Amino acid sequence: MGAVSGGGATSRPTGGLVDRYGRVATDLRVSLTDRCNLRCTYCMPAEGLPWAPDDTVLTDAEVVRLVRIGVELLGVREVRFTGGEPLLRRGLEGIVGATAALRTADDVPVRTALTTNGLGLDKRAHALAAAGLGRVNVSLDSLDPQRFAVIARRDRHADVLAGLAAAAAAGLAPVKVNAVLVRGVNDDEAVPLLTWALAHGYHLRFIEQMPLGPHGSWRREDLVTAREILDTLSAAFELVAEPDGARAGAPAETWHVAGHPGATVGVIGSVTRPFCGACDRTRLTADGQVRSCLFARDEDDLRGLLRGGADDDAVADAWRAAMRGKAAGHGIDDPTFLQPARTMSAIGG
Ligand code: SAM
Ligand code: SF4
Repeated sequence: MGAVSGGGATSRPTGGLVDRYGRVATDLRVSLTDRCNLRCTYCMPAEGLPWAPDDTVLTDAEVVRLVRIGVELLGVREVRFTGGEPLLRRGLEGIVGATAALRTADDVPVRTALTTNGLGLDKRAHALAAAGLGRVNVSLDSLDPQRFAVIARRDRHADVLAGLAAAAAAGLAPVKVNAVLVRGVNDDEAVPLLTWALAHGYHLRFIEQMPLGPHGSWRREDLVTAREILDTLSAAFELVAEPDGARAGAPAETWHVAGHPGATVGVIGSVTRPFCGACDRTRLTADGQVRSCLFARDEDDLRGLLRGGADDDAVADAWRAAMRGKAAGHGIDDPTFLQPARTMSAIGG
C-alpha cells in the first residue's frame, strides 16, 4: 500500500502557514472528491450539484505532492481526508499510505484521519488501517432507518452501521461518530444517540448546522444549538468537563461521561460558540484550491501551479500567501455575512 509517489523529495522548511492574526495552520483538510452517494438535506440539494469536471480534479500523485509540501515545508502535522464522500475515491488507500509515510520537518510521523459517511467502509476499513490510517469519523444522524433516509435521501442506514462496526474491528479506535441534529426531524435523538454510542464504544460529536448547505436553506431560528444539546444531554448524563477545556485548536468541546470510563462526547458549536480565534485549519479542495476557512469567499489556485511546472518552493509560497489572508472569523453573525458560493460537499467538510 502507499505506492503513490508525490514527486521529487525536498527538505527546506522556510516557515509555516501563519496568518495576519498569528494563527498557525497545522491541520490540513483535503477533499478528495466533491461527489457523494448521499444527499443530506443540510449539505446538498436533492438533485446533487454540477460536479467538478474530471480533468480539474487533482490526480492521486498531485494530492500526495501537495500533502507532502504541506507536511515537509509548511508545518502540517495532521491530515484529514474528506469530501464529498472520500470512499468514492478509488485511490484512497494509496493516498493514505503515502501520507502516513510522511514525516514533519522535526521528524514526527504525520497523523492521518478520514471523515466519511461510512458507505462501503465495511469492505475497506482493514485496508485503510493497514495503509496507516489513524482515525475515522463516520457521520450518522439518526438511529432510525426511516429518519436516516429522510435526512440522507437514501435508504442506507444499515450500510453505515456496518461501516462503523468494521472500522472498530479494524482497530481505527476510538471511532468517532458525527451527528447533525435537524429541527423537527431528529432533534429528539441527542440522548438516544449518546446512549447508543456509549454502548458501542463510539465517541459522539454533535455538529451545529452551518449555513453551508443548499443556498437559502439555513435559518438561524431552526438551529439546534450547542447549548440546547448540552442541556438535553446533561439532564440524562453527568458530563464532566475535560481538565484543559479540551479546545486548544480543536473545534469540539468535549466532556467525559460519568460512569463510562474513557468515553467522551463533544459538541462542535461552530455557529454559536465559534472557535475562529484558535483555528489551526487549512483546506484543499478536490480541484486543487486552497481555502483558508470553510466560510472563505475566495480561494487560491494551486492546481495551475502544479500543472504549470512550479517547483515545491513556489507552491509552498503560494500556499503561505493564501493563508496570510485568512479572515479573523466566519462572520455568520455579521449582517453582511454571505454564504460562500461552494456548499459543504464541494469545499470538504
Ligand atoms: N461525506 C462525508 C461525511 O458525511 O462524513 C464527509 C464530508 S461531510 C461534508 C463532513 C461532515 O460535515 C459530516 O459529518 C456532515 O454531517 C457535516 N456537514 C455537512 N453539511 C453540514 C452543515 N451544513 N452544517 C454542519 N455540518 C455539516
Ligand atoms: Fe454526502 Fe457527507 Fe454531504 Fe451527506 S454530509 S451529502 S454524506 S458529503
